[in-house]
Amino acid sequence: MDWAAWGGIVVASVMAGVAILWLVGGYYHLRYYRGRAADPASWKCQPNRFLRPGQDRQAMVLATLNLSIGGLISGTLVYFLTRGWKTPIYYEVAERGWLYTIATTVLLFILMDGLAYYAHRALHHKWVFRYIHRWHHKFLAPTPFVVTAMHPVEFLIFQAVTFLPLFIIPFHYVSIIVVLLYVLIFNIIDHSGVRLTSKIPWQGPSMFHDDHHVHFHCNFGQHLTLWDRMHGTLRRVNRRYGAEVFGGKGERAADSADRAGDAFVRY
Ligand SMILES: [Zn+2]
Ligand SMILES: [Zn+2]
Repeated sequence: MDWAAWGGIVVASVMAGVAILWLVGGYYHLRYYRGRAADPASWKCQPNRFLRPGQDRQAMVLATLNLSIGGLISGTLVYFLTRGWKTPIYYEVAERGWLYTIATTVLLFILMDGLAYYAHRALHHKWVFRYIHRWHHKFLAPTPFVVTAMHPVEFLIFQAVTFLPLFIIPFHYVSIIVVLLYVLIFNIIDHSGVRLTSKIPWQGPSMFHDDHHVHFHCNFGQHLTLWDRMHGTLRRVNRRYGAEVFGGKGERAADSADRAGDAFVRY
């Protein structure tokens, strides 16, 4: 084991994750939370709700800590890859061709997004929610730094399911970097608390995940709303949701027998 080489790779990957968090998160923090603090109605998903005093700093510390753990693990994996560890990852496009490389980049994104949906849904199981996932849901009005502000066990679960496809299907290493960057950056944007829509056709607006923090057990998806539509867990109009309403489909309000309440919210 070459500890100096391992240390160098780990430090670089910790710094990369933490730098992205602070650059992207810092941008939204300064532009909106500082720059437009006087007028939250014009930009904020939840204009009347802010994190409790101290929660802001708590999110920053926890998010940075988790991304550092993530950097330690992924840096260690990269170290072993450089030492000839055999995985299906390939390094020359010519090995499999452009068509395969592009198609599997899309596949990787869809797989990671789907796995994140099912892992997240499992975290909303009553017991797991109370002891683990509740850490993330303490932040009712998310800010960019809430993105990885979660129980370290939850962070490790997400990291495990994210990396799982890499050990099964051959992906080009650049595809992996591109998809991981996309996932991290758009997760920060989705937690920004700022009302944002994307020009990217498959990327839902930030309101989609912000609503997850407001209503708890619905909208479990990460980037695509596809999985929630498939399983009927997309938020519905006029349904009652809350921390104690488990299952993902809300409750029919006692006074609304009409079918209109069953329509999905349009994101
Ligand atoms: Zn959740
Ligand atoms: Zn969240």
